[in-house]
Amino acid sequence: MAIIFDDKKSINDLLKKPEIHPGSFASLYKRHNAGLTLVCHDMEQEKREQEELAKIYETRSERKKKLLFDNLDLIFRHKDEILETPRYANIDVHYAIKAGGCYIGPISTSKYYHFAGTLVNINLKLGTLLELWENEQFKISCKCGGTAVIHYFSGSPLSGASIAAATCPKCKEIIHNIRNRGFGNYTGLLLTKLYANTEKVAKSITAKWKLAESEYGKKVAERKAPIWYGMGAEFHGDGESCNLETMINELKLKEFDQQQ
Ligand SMILES: [Zn+2]
Repeated sequence: MAIIFDDKKSINDLLKKPEIHPGSFASLYKRHNAGLTLVCHDMEQEKREQEELAKIYETRSERKKKLLFDNLDLIFRHKDEILETPRYANIDVHYAIKAGGCYIGPISTSKYYHFAGTLVNINLKLGTLLELWENEQFKISCKCGGTAVIHYFSGSPLSGASIAAATCPKCKEIIHNIRNRGFGNYTGLLLTKLYANTEKVAKSITAKWKLAESEYGKKVAERKAPIWYGMGAEFHGDGESCNLETMINELKLKEFDQQQ
């Protein structure tokens, strides 16, 4: 609820028209005396801390993006291994793609969902990104002979015009000003991949919960359940997570060992 103070009106106007002033002066006075405000110090502190965390998150994403593109050749050399290894394929790389357009705004590669007050964050995964880059729409020949991959695009859904930028894994050159490619094709391919990404997470959670139900049912039927037991005790995650930094280090060590 917001209280609107309008300096153009006298206090008599406000008193005569309570409908434009949602909180009465009497209640405002009572709240003030009780030390209560509509936006309290704790709420402001929480907002400040959220803003600070967002800044750190942004700096971290920029660093990770640089690391990813600096090591694009290494990543492409191990593409099949990454796709076949869930702890690599599921690494969050939401910062790798920047996209958007007129009327539709930015296309988010990081989605937040609230379930029963619990925040679930589903991000673009490395495996999904590598599959997106398999499409000709997201590839362009580089003058060095390598194939660059598009990581930025914008345009208009009405005219279909677009502009994009790509990075070459071989020479690390950034190719700007890529035009003459349909905006709808970029958007369609990216959104399809993002929806598949979300589906993968949702299906994994559903499967893990079904397993928990089944394990719970078995233990209860066998009368092996302790008194504190509940279905939630059988609910587990993948148990195998990895970050970009670890994966790159592991792949470099592997290549080093193979050269010896
Ligand atoms: Zn190149």
